[in-house]
Order: sequence, then structure tokens, then C-alpha cells
Amino acid sequence: MTQPPEGTAPAVRHSSIALDRGLCTSCVICVVECPAWCIHLTSHPEPVPDLPPGARMRTHQVLDTFTIDYGTCLYCGICIEECPFDALAWDARLVPPPVVRADLVTDPSRPTD
Ligand code: SF4
Ligand code: SF4
Repeated sequence: MTQPPEGTAPAVRHSSIALDRGLCTSCVICVVECPAWCIHLTSHPEPVPDLPPGARMRTHQVLDTFTIDYGTCLYCGICIEECPFDALAWDARLVPPPVVRADLVTDPSRPTD
């Protein structure tokens, strides 16, 4: 087994976080509750489909991008606990070891169908 260089801490690998895009409403609760500010998302408004006849037109936010920066993530699970739509969950897959710092900023979307 390869040992880390003397004087350095061994690399710690964590479970990742999975996002079910079909459940995410872009409410940004996870973004504001994350103590490390490492979740970023973008969304856009679209008309709510299938409104009853005569109903006033309304819009809802549709998710475009969602990233977690595992370089600053504390693995505290607050985002998972706070999501009111159960769109986030722990994933047994480990965060891949990065080659460069930017590799730690990832889209956690997982297909669930
Ligand atoms: S596990 Fe904690 S630090 Fe990491 S993204 Fe979720 S709330 Fe933020
Ligand atoms: S709290 Fe849940 S539903 Fe709201 S933006 Fe985050 S993942 Fe999506």
C-alpha cells in the first residue's frame, strides 16, 4: 500500500451526496443552511403546467445547475437534513480523489428512475 509522504496526513475519503433533480424545487434552503457555503445552484422560472381553467398564471423555479464544493464541504449532513423535499441523500460512492482543486466542485445529480 502506498504511504503518504512523511509528515503529511493520509488522504481521507468521504461518502458523497446525491441529488435527485426530479425532487429538487430550487428552494435554496440547502444553500442558505450549509455552514460552509459550498452549495451553488442556478434556476429559472417556468409557467406552472396543468393549472385549472381560469386560474391565474403562476411560475415555479426549474433547476439548471447544482454543485457541491467538496473542497470546503464539512460532511455535516445539514443540507440533507434540511431539504424539505428529500432531494438530497448520502451516497455510498466516495468522493473521487481530485487531480486538481477544481475537480472537487461537482454536480451531485444522480438518476433515480
Ligand atoms: S454536508 Fe454540510 S458542508 Fe457539505 S454541502 Fe451539506 S451542509 Fe454543506
Ligand atoms: S433544499 Fe432540497 S429542494 Fe431545496 S434547493 Fe436544496 S436540494 Fe433542492
